[in-house]
Amino acid sequence: MAAAGSSFAQMGLDARILQAVAELGWAAPTPIQEKAIPLALEGKDLLARARTGSGKTGAYALPLLQRLLARKTSALVAEQAVRGLILVPTKELARQALQMLRQLAAYCARDVRPVDLAGPEDLAAQRPLLMEKPDVVIGTPSRVLAHLQMQSLRLHNSLEILVMDEADLLFSFGFEEDLKNLLCHLPKIYQAFIMSATFSEDVKALKELVLHNPVTLRLQEAPLPDSSQLSQFQIQCETEEDKFLLLYALLKLSLVPGKVLLFVNRIDRCYRLRLFLEQFGIAACVLNSELPAQSRCHIISQFNRGFYRYIIATDEQDLAEPEGTNRGKKKGTGTERGKDQEYGVSRGIDFQNVSAVFNFDFPPSLESYIHRAGRTARVHNPGTVLTFVLPSEGLRLAKIEEVLTAESSSKYTLRPYQFRMGEIEGLRYRCLDAMRSVTKQAIKEARLREIKEELLNSEKLKTYFEDHPRDLNLLRHDKPLHPAVVKPHLRNVPEYLVPRGLRPAVCPLAGKCKRRKFPASTSKGQQNPLRSFKSSQKKLRTSAKLQ
Ligand code: AMP
Repeated sequence: MAAAGSSFAQMGLDARILQAVAELGWAAPTPIQEKAIPLALEGKDLLARARTGSGKTGAYALPLLQRLLARKTSALVAEQAVRGLILVPTKELARQALQMLRQLAAYCARDVRPVDLAGPEDLAAQRPLLMEKPDVVIGTPSRVLAHLQMQSLRLHNSLEILVMDEADLLFSFGFEEDLKNLLCHLPKIYQAFIMSATFSEDVKALKELVLHNPVTLRLQEAPLPDSSQLSQFQIQCETEEDKFLLLYALLKLSLVPGKVLLFVNRIDRCYRLRLFLEQFGIAACVLNSELPAQSRCHIISQFNRGFYRYIIATDEQDLAEPEGTNRGKKKGTGTERGKDQEYGVSRGIDFQNVSAVFNFDFPPSLESYIHRAGRTARVHNPGTVLTFVLPSEGLRLAKIEEVLTAESSSKYTLRPYQFRMGEIEGLRYRCLDAMRSVTKQAIKEARLREIKEELLNSEKLKTYFEDHPRDLNLLRHDKPLHPAVVKPHLRNVPEYLVPRGLRPAVCPLAGKCKRRKFPASTSKGQQNPLRSFKSSQKKLRTSAKLQ
């Protein structure tokens, strides 16, 4: 991914920024950074099409920091003011942008202070933060607009750089009106960057509204990395039960190394899956729009630090909405009560070192397939996507394959995942037993219990843990949700049930591998059914070692 022959040092960035970049281990700029940063430093407006995971946050954050530092060190010491504004569609992205800015400003933290307004505090509580005039404000359009209208934030005399990140979502999340109103509070002249995964009509409209003689960068023509980086597989499952059986085998026999994101299409499915896995002693977190924002951000940050292996997530809510519902572009239409409008998991969020994405439920659209798959194989890492396909979903699969193949220069297909279902027949009885235990009532109770607990956690996250950051690590989000329905005997897999070919590699009682490397073929010369999948995982392990 890094562009040959270019370096951050050649870009004329401040030494403190370069030090932070080096500390992050960014050896060379990614293609979007290589193109965007010099243009941005020249003062150009930019419209950049960059898929998530391409390093686009650095592409706008580095010139922004450079500009702020140059201001602070110039002979004409300017009055402290908010000079940068970063608009994002979700709270998770706001938090992520804040973290990235903080990391990049680690050696000039006194000179550059960013503030995230998308957090859970109410407007009044955020007022004092704004009175101190942070250098950069990050937030969703609605929150930023609310502050502008209350005059706790003033930008018309001070704003120098405006960034719109994931700009296509800014419109589709219903922020259109807020954005238009917000622009009335900005000065006439400022530099602006629009970063977007797609150049939709909405983005073109934004371009007209915001940018002045922009340079357009279309670096990533393909929506996903090519097959040398991202391995895409599909597996045909005859029934819903087969999907559960396969997942149980893959996870319980530890056939998938590394961290996995499991996507489902509805919130109740998150809990069905979590309770099902709980039966086998497999811990997983759930991430969806019902959970408080603090908890969501905490789960993502713990996942990135290696606390959890599995997250079960839904897409952002509009993708999860069944077709034909009345969800329009206006905020608040057609959404379930309790869901957060500013939730987003499959887009933009930087889940780090995800080795595989499982589409346990078939993605509701091509767009959601792309965004889910984009959670793995980020920046320099390889990754794998495995899509579970029911017979009724065959046509939709063909459509996705057709578009991906047409949009890419390389041959895009979802290769069949060679797995001999017959070998795991012995586990079916246990799988059925576990499925039966996860009743609708159990799901309802678990869902309620989790919300209650996370609301409590969220309060703690807000207050206590701010003062006791060490204790934060003790707060886990993957504890059993419904211990009452767990049958202890299901936790272990007796050896006779482990597929013969896998016995040398798997220690079923512990649910862990005896050795790290899986044999390509077994002692009896049988091919390991997971070979193709694991060879891509092997690449990942190698790359992880190299980092
Ligand atoms: P983004 O596309 O901005 O969400 O970035 C995705 C990930 O890439 C983040 O974890 C960044 O820390 C990482 N990243 C950004 N730029 C570079 C770079 N030049 N070299 C290596 N990693 C990078």
